[in-house]
Amino acid sequence: MPLRYVLPALIVGTLQAQDSPTSVVSSIQPNWIAPHIRFLASDLLEGRETTKRGVKLAADYVASQFETLGLEPASSEGFVLRMPMRHSTVDGTPALALEGKSGRRDLVYGTDFLVQPDLVRDQVILDAPLVFVGYGLSLPAFGYDEYAGIDVKGKVVVLIPGGPEKIPSDERGHTTLFATKEATAKAHGALGVVTLLPAPAAVIKERVFRQLSGYSWRGPDGVPHTLFFESAATPRLAGPGTNALFEMAGRQLSDVLPRLQQGTPQSFDMGVRMSFSGRFAQVDTASWNTVGIVRGSDPALREEYVVYSAHMDHVGMGAPVNGDSVHHGALDNAGGTATLIAMARAFKSLPTPPRRSVLFVAVSGEEKGILGSDYFVRNSPVPVERIVADVNMDNYLMLAEVKDLAAYGASYSTLDEVVKKSLGTLGIAVSPDAAPEQTIFTRSDHYPFMRRGIPAVMLFNGQQSGDKGRDGSTMLRQWLGNVHHTPRDTYEQGIDWSAGVSYARANFLIGYSVATMTERPRWKGQYFFMERPSTP
Ligand SMILES: [Zn+2]
Repeated sequence: MPLRYVLPALIVGTLQAQDSPTSVVSSIQPNWIAPHIRFLASDLLEGRETTKRGVKLAADYVASQFETLGLEPASSEGFVLRMPMRHSTVDGTPALALEGKSGRRDLVYGTDFLVQPDLVRDQVILDAPLVFVGYGLSLPAFGYDEYAGIDVKGKVVVLIPGGPEKIPSDERGHTTLFATKEATAKAHGALGVVTLLPAPAAVIKERVFRQLSGYSWRGPDGVPHTLFFESAATPRLAGPGTNALFEMAGRQLSDVLPRLQQGTPQSFDMGVRMSFSGRFAQVDTASWNTVGIVRGSDPALREEYVVYSAHMDHVGMGAPVNGDSVHHGALDNAGGTATLIAMARAFKSLPTPPRRSVLFVAVSGEEKGILGSDYFVRNSPVPVERIVADVNMDNYLMLAEVKDLAAYGASYSTLDEVVKKSLGTLGIAVSPDAAPEQTIFTRSDHYPFMRRGIPAVMLFNGQQSGDKGRDGSTMLRQWLGNVHHTPRDTYEQGIDWSAGVSYARANFLIGYSVATMTERPRWKGQYFFMERPSTP
């Protein structure tokens, strides 16, 4: 499909022509973004998989752009910072047998079940009774406890992903991470976790395992850290394995599921014993994050930092679609990375630097469980308490003229006012979450910043869309269902450059505002995602 270089009419609203950001805002054009997406999404970068050479090429490319623009490197290491990682894989063929009143069944690895590799141990043996615990949640704040009245001590819990619909989207995303469920099971005395993913194993293998499984970052002490996934070996039963287990337990998942979705716990002793054994091989490896600085101009505020973040990694090479095995990740997230470079260019174009310093952070490891940004906030090259806000850019669908944008995370802090003003200047409405079932709040790099106590926002597609015939939610859901994490996310998919430009301008105005205002953004209260109480 040919490029659509559609230039938007610029609405500058309340900004005066002589204000320095105005001329910078209007100077942001499609060619500030498009060439970077074209390069980053090309075959040459092989889908930019974390730890692989494609993502190193991306990291070096971003560093070259930063250097050309005149940014300072964030550390004496240079622009490209090494992130120590661990990768674990399944070694050989794991064995899993179920034993109940009706006899014994040996499940077939690769068809009935797969295994999330153990990050520490090279061999795991589990031999224990199974207890179904629904979603595996214990949430007193929501009056919802699937462990109430059931003993899991010395047993293995069986759970399904997600959480009941009555829990609001942001809280649901936060409380239903696999890592959180693993910790909950452990706290209740369980020996291990089995997860049910009732889809064909081949689908799970490509969409879940090849793309996600077995990665962590390593701290200076060598300890592996994960944010999303379990650190211990977890058998994941695919459709046939799930059916076999429920059959042996004398129950049907299809009876249990609707009640769980409505928020009624369905925990029960399955009357089935599992014996599992698997071997794992860990290698210590590394990936890269690229960080550059535009130094602030105010002697009192230049030691404070506004962060722009975007992940440059994608999911690598996989099963071919129409002969193409490169997962190009043009919108996810060459688009955000290109916009990050455009942000650096915009700040360097200002006649005077902003009062605060601005940090441009391109991370990897996002597709492996939001690892790069979690590593960054725990191993930051600048004191983390001096980071006043994060403006994150990920997977924005530049596919139709921008009418509105959703601002994930903004409502918890005074950033919501900044967002409203900045978008208002451009004639863009602020819209509620267009797809609450997707729990997008926890699914990108702003989330580790917020956990660490740093106010953050991620602009994303809203409920409207300039696309004739489709509202924003429909466009978003169709893209996530058909294109996301497949080789179809290409430069040629029909990117609307007017949308890319509006998105970049909006992000610029938000960061510029935060970098120039006297007060740093403040939390409005104490929130569920905070790791420790904030000082509002
Ligand atoms: Zn992604």
